[in-house]
Amino acid sequence: MTTVSILGSTGSIGRQTLEVCKDLDIRVNAISAKSNINLLEAQARQFNAKLVSVYDEKYYNELKTRLADTSSSVLCGQEGNIAVAQYESSETVITAMSGMIGLIPTISAIKARKRIGLANKETLVCAGHIIMPMAKLYGCQIIPVDSEHSAIFQCLNGRMGNKIKKIILTASGGPFFGKTRSELTGVSKDDALMHPNWSMGQKITIDSATLMNKGLEIIEAKWLFDVDVDNIEVIVHRESIVHSAVEFEDNSVIAQLGVPKMYLPIKYALTYPKRVESKCHELSLAGKTLHFENPDRKTFKCLDLAVCSLKKGGVYPAIMNAANEKAVELFLNDKIKFLDIADIVENTINNIDIKPDNTDISSVLSADSQARDFVIRLVGEQICRQF
Ligand code: NDP
Ligand code: MG
Repeated sequence: MTTVSILGSTGSIGRQTLEVCKDLDIRVNAISAKSNINLLEAQARQFNAKLVSVYDEKYYNELKTRLADTSSSVLCGQEGNIAVAQYESSETVITAMSGMIGLIPTISAIKARKRIGLANKETLVCAGHIIMPMAKLYGCQIIPVDSEHSAIFQCLNGRMGNKIKKIILTASGGPFFGKTRSELTGVSKDDALMHPNWSMGQKITIDSATLMNKGLEIIEAKWLFDVDVDNIEVIVHRESIVHSAVEFEDNSVIAQLGVPKMYLPIKYALTYPKRVESKCHELSLAGKTLHFENPDRKTFKCLDLAVCSLKKGGVYPAIMNAANEKAVELFLNDKIKFLDIADIVENTINNIDIKPDNTDISSVLSADSQARDFVIRLVGEQICRQF
């Protein structure tokens, strides 16, 4: 069994990773979170973590005081995340932070030659062109945690060098599947947070409602499996039983199935290449009907906006991602409406004034912050115009 560090241990993926670690008796050395020190403290005690980091510095002293009677060292800020990512006796790092803030700690984990269980898709969206060659250079394995990518990874086991003709990414369709644009004008935050199949953090749940999540996953798949974006098809599958599939040149399609629980892909990432017995989460197919249909790309335009940013190249995926992260944050804070999210992303991609000549890390980070500023100005102007 491996030993792990978890970036974002208090979130949906982080908590389920700890559940797997508990069930499989996997040693958890180091954990980090943004601000939830109550849960971080409880996790540090339960798993006897040697290193605990809270990003938000205002909670650092409080957490340090609370853990003073334990053997846990406490750190804060991005330095703390980096220390968690590089913790010497952890073999595997699970990147379960939400957002592109996970980029630098992921790079640190690669440089420390860790095995990466990658949940934090925004990292690959913004910098797949840097992460994948770097992982190769340092000899690191990147094992996808995202259920679709875990499925594709599993479908490709035993591929024997055969060429991939097409990747088929399945999408649940989110809570608003089948709705028209006019029906979406008045939807609330609570409506958008009601995902039919998956229980996840707020940001990815909103991304699932706009279908941006599938757009991000197209880019994630492109980098993980080195497949041209035109050979990645998205298909809506409401039941979330078929987690994705690969079509080979002989038109054979290999798919991976399972109940919609992240516990399974997280466990696979931690035990790969072994499969370990599961006492729960059995899939029973009898009596089930599975449906597949095309997504409504006009109403849910985030899907093609993500593809468009990838085709534009350079730092455009980072611009698209930053605009989306900022727009989702504004939506969750009741500052904009649901349909504004896609409009903001579109406006940012089309109108931001960035010369996409360089694509190194500092250019990616700079594009990210310029895109966030662009969104703030855009929304500020819109709000002003309403009065
Ligand atoms: P959550 O919002 O539930 O959790 C995010 C975690 O990241 C929390 O622990 C949060 O800490 C932590 N975090 C946020 N910012 C920082 C920071 N600056 N430094 C350290 N920790 C930070 O998200 P999810 O678990 O749902 O998603 C995590 C990632 O996994 C995302 O990239 C998502 O796209 C991907 N993913 C998630 C799936 C799911 O089922 N949830 C499925 C597939 C992929 P705090 O609690 O203190 O805020
Ligand atoms: Mg997914």
